[in-house]
Amino acid sequence: MAVSVGIDLGTTFSAVAYIDPQTKLPKIIPNREGKNITPSVIQFVNGRAIFGSEAESAFNAGQSGCAATFKRGMGKSGAYCFIDDKSYTAEDLSALLLRRLKEDAEAELGDTIKDAVITVPAYFYSAEREATVRAANAAGIKVRKIIDEPNAAAMAYGLNNWRENANILVYDLGGGTFDVTLTRMGPNGDLSTITTRGNHLLGGRDWDDRIEQLLMDKFAAETGIDTHSGAGIKAMFRGMAEGVKKQLSAMQSVKVSASIPDFGSASVMVNRGEFEENTRDLLDRTVSLCNTVLSDAGLNIRDVTDVLLVGGSTRMPQVSRYILDMFGKKPITHVNPDEAVALGAAIQSTKENEPYAALAIQVMSDGKKVTAHSGLSSQVSVKPSQKLSSVGLLKLRETTAHAMGIIAVSTDGAGYINDIIIPANHPRPVRVAKAFAFYTSARGANEMEVYVLQGDKENPLDNQIPYKYLVSGIQHVKGQKGKTIIKVQYSYDNNGIIQVQARQESGCGDLPIRKEPVPEDMSKYALPIDPAEFLKPEPLNVVMAVDVSGSMDGDPLRAAQNAMCDFIRNMDFSFTRVGILAVSDRTAEITGLTDNEDACIRAIQSITSGQTGYCNSAHPFTDIRNMLADEDGRRFAVILADGVWRCQEAAIAAAKQCNHAEIETAAIGFGKADKKFLQDISSKDANALLVSQSELTSAFGTIAQSLGAAAQSGLDRSAADTETWDD
Ligand code: AMP
Repeated sequence: MAVSVGIDLGTTFSAVAYIDPQTKLPKIIPNREGKNITPSVIQFVNGRAIFGSEAESAFNAGQSGCAATFKRGMGKSGAYCFIDDKSYTAEDLSALLLRRLKEDAEAELGDTIKDAVITVPAYFYSAEREATVRAANAAGIKVRKIIDEPNAAAMAYGLNNWRENANILVYDLGGGTFDVTLTRMGPNGDLSTITTRGNHLLGGRDWDDRIEQLLMDKFAAETGIDTHSGAGIKAMFRGMAEGVKKQLSAMQSVKVSASIPDFGSASVMVNRGEFEENTRDLLDRTVSLCNTVLSDAGLNIRDVTDVLLVGGSTRMPQVSRYILDMFGKKPITHVNPDEAVALGAAIQSTKENEPYAALAIQVMSDGKKVTAHSGLSSQVSVKPSQKLSSVGLLKLRETTAHAMGIIAVSTDGAGYINDIIIPANHPRPVRVAKAFAFYTSARGANEMEVYVLQGDKENPLDNQIPYKYLVSGIQHVKGQKGKTIIKVQYSYDNNGIIQVQARQESGCGDLPIRKEPVPEDMSKYALPIDPAEFLKPEPLNVVMAVDVSGSMDGDPLRAAQNAMCDFIRNMDFSFTRVGILAVSDRTAEITGLTDNEDACIRAIQSITSGQTGYCNSAHPFTDIRNMLADEDGRRFAVILADGVWRCQEAAIAAAKQCNHAEIETAAIGFGKADKKFLQDISSKDANALLVSQSELTSAFGTIAQSLGAAAQSGLDRSAADTETWDD
């Protein structure tokens, strides 16, 4: 029967565990060398990948063709390294390592691996988690779940040491990352993360760098040779550094010998005190993150029941001492930091995924939002430690390590902000939807850009921008300048991976959405917005040309004037200018383009029939073109006719020239007007309206509505939280 396993895919070491069917307890699966941990190192020799202690020794000896610490490059698209002219991404290398771990575990168990729970640093961003899933899939491993390393360690610890109501601070200092997580052991084996923070770029390697520097300084002083330059000598010290560091964890001082070019063999002593002094600032950085985690949770040092040390670098004695000084209690060191994470992952490999929860944000009277863990009580008494009877009792509730927001315009319109949709430290999986106002345009595709941010800094560019999505298929909305509501739903799934969906309030179902590369240059989102500019819709210039031939005399002209005045009253003169032409045997400009609504009304009311002759021998299109020639923005002409013009062909040709010059035309006809002619002088068939005299107002209303949607598209503003929806 195929088995489920837990995999700790570490920066420096990896391990695999499963639930032993006999004992029903988590157990490490040794690799083909019989070792519980496998170095996360690969050496390529003639294109063949070598793993295990052979690869590790080659790496430590500074041999070529080695790839190590590639976990640090997960989620980045570029090559992590080039070996024999072949490029490898961190994901490629992780896939090779995972395949090896799988093969070793299957050989040891004599069984196939069905699926796996894989651990990642709590502070891994969505892209890094996705890369981990892809690497596993490429290795032929189905991912049951991605869980956070500190939580896995806390589970392994909690199995034998359950202390109800205890707040456990998991201090996880690995080779390349540092995570600090506060978890609470609740009743009934319910382990939930309260808060978590981390630093991707802090880990054992930074201590190695300091040793390397120390060795260079000491050998330079000892030999008088410049040991700080030259790739070969640097590589030699680099290769020695980690070993010296580890020895200093067991001994007070270490004698280091090396052969120095142009000098010969030399030795120096490195002692623990000077190493600790030299790296104190690195430890300080970890402690300041511990303090942040406590303040995020609203707890203080006294509220921490226990500190659990995880990660190989916590073997440095100064870590335990520092924790003792800070928390006034000895940290828990009896879990094997190399194995605890894999064991915890194995426990989780027997569990089902949690369903999504919609986020309940409470809004306090002062308008502040509070999330799940605010106001966590610290006064609950901790019950004595117990052994849980079965791994089945353990339940894990993880939280979001990073807030997830969207780039939106601030409420005062002054600039762009990170509008947080899901706060940090909220139980996951979770989904939250928020409604945004969006202005559509009657022309062109209505597409909305969604920039996903991970982090809680207000300035968008101070956060990670893992994804850009383009939401398309937004229906143009007539009226209200095209304002519509787009609901954007963010989810953190069981694996801490982001999903984004969007819906239009008036539509049904999800809008099409696709990922696009995040542009290199995002600097515009750091600049202030001129609110007037930002809100100003595209200028609209309209010429109304009215037929004033003899047949319009009396009621028809009065009906036309009323309809035109209604049209004018429907327009928004903050961005619109209107000009009026009369046409029959010649044309006359009643008013040039103006944004004065009253002037337009007066001009319309001043029109009389026969003003420009009683027959229809002229057309207005040449004048329309001239009036609109130099105008910016949208250019539109509405022609009102009540009969058939004499110069039809010339009129059609001139109308086409207008259209060619990107002037849109609409024609409203009544009386003896001819639909075909109306269509021929309109820029699209829908703009040709043949109506009765009594329908003139509604015909102008139709045109006004389509013009009312001329506002700038793509304007999104933060709005209210809204109901979430299922996939
Ligand atoms: P991990 O990523 O949890 O596998 O941790 C690996 C890191 O732990 C590497 O930087 C190792 O150098 C470091 N490490 C392992 N053992 C020791 C030790 N005895 N003393 C100091 N650092 C150690």
